[in-house]
Amino acid sequence: MKTFTFRKGGIHPPQCKNTAEMPITPAPQAPLLTLLLSQSIGAPSKPVVKPGDKVAAGQPIAEPGGFVGAWVHSPCAGTVKKIETVRTPQGYPAEALTIERDPQSTEVFSYPPMNPADASSEDLVARVREAGIVGLGGATFPTSVKLTPPKGMTPRCVILNGAECEPYLTCDDRLMREHAPEIAEGAFCLMRAVGVRHCYIGIEDNKPEAIAAMREAASQYSGMEVCVLRAKYPQGGEKQLIAAILGREVPSGALPVSVGAVVDNVATAFAVQQAVVLGKPLTGRVLTITGEGALNPGNYYVELGTPLTSLLQTDERVDKIIGGGPMMGRAMSNLDTPTTKGLSGVLTMCLGSMPDIQPCIRCGACYSACPMGLEPMLLARQSENSDWEYAARSGVMDCIECGSCAYTCPSNRRLLDWIRYSKTQVRKLKS
Ligand code: SF4
Ligand code: SF4
Repeated sequence: MKTFTFRKGGIHPPQCKNTAEMPITPAPQAPLLTLLLSQSIGAPSKPVVKPGDKVAAGQPIAEPGGFVGAWVHSPCAGTVKKIETVRTPQGYPAEALTIERDPQSTEVFSYPPMNPADASSEDLVARVREAGIVGLGGATFPTSVKLTPPKGMTPRCVILNGAECEPYLTCDDRLMREHAPEIAEGAFCLMRAVGVRHCYIGIEDNKPEAIAAMREAASQYSGMEVCVLRAKYPQGGEKQLIAAILGREVPSGALPVSVGAVVDNVATAFAVQQAVVLGKPLTGRVLTITGEGALNPGNYYVELGTPLTSLLQTDERVDKIIGGGPMMGRAMSNLDTPTTKGLSGVLTMCLGSMPDIQPCIRCGACYSACPMGLEPMLLARQSENSDWEYAARSGVMDCIECGSCAYTCPSNRRLLDWIRYSKTQVRKLKS
């Protein structure tokens, strides 16, 4: 069987896909849902309802704050209780809208269903926007913006990202196994929206059931095929996926569409299908609860805004909780926070004491692991020295924050933390 992979760098961490055989189950419905107004990478959304208003399940409650922004919808019928500042999982303040569920109400809002084979590109893009769909792989880039390439750039294909290369996470695997026809139909919607005839669905070779299910579903559509990827981290990075499947390198600072590719996650394609074919806005997602400290591991369909405290049961040994996977996820300092569109998993870890940080021994392991061809040790040192201009010249903004460098470092240097900090400072320098 032909397999695809990227060439530069990469690592093979233990996969720990302990929840892969656990079917998707609905999470308990919380009486209060808290919807963050910043659930996309763009401008925060602006409320279109006020405290005291009654809302239907699926009703729009906040509009995009700009072109790069997203609608937010209420996952349940109920009453808007308050709009206030809450804390994000990382402890930052953020505006949020709280809905009190009305268990008696059956009011549902939805958009008129569309036939993707008849719908125009403009109608499909408009539907994706009004349904509040963002990249569900974690990037939360508004999908309608991806489907509207800048002038002069012509998409040649859609690539669906089903790699799920992060250890522990299994939500995409389960979604592909259980909802392959819907994902393929969503991919067809994406193809029609950008006017291309080819769609490649990249799945790592450690998910044979997902590969079989998606192959069967893709066979119903002309120009759609599954590309089996060799399991290697970060195979699901947008640029690595393009390199593996198309053999093309996205230039520094350029968009994937500059080499003709529009890349979307399989969960995003599923959400697109639901929005187009059924008229359902994005009000929930599948996420994985996992790790040695989770008492209720599994893959759950969770309404957006569900408090993590009501979702997660942990044992007392847990000393670190990560939003997302262990490589690219972020430590959570605050569990009194809701689920969001970008949250693909919650990983509970019982680490005990952390290993000491030792001096760099110049072994070069971080250089070899970097899939972007960067020099992580140098980038981290520039950050430690607050040398932001040098960091920018060294390509720090090309870092995809995959964590491969930190994973391989025998001295346990906090390479990724320093590099992330540097990126924040360089962004400030440029603004
Ligand atoms: S985190 Fe950045 S610097 Fe480190 S390996 Fe990944 S891309 Fe390279
Ligand atoms: S892997 Fe760690 S010890 Fe080796 S060169 Fe990079 S920073 Fe230094």
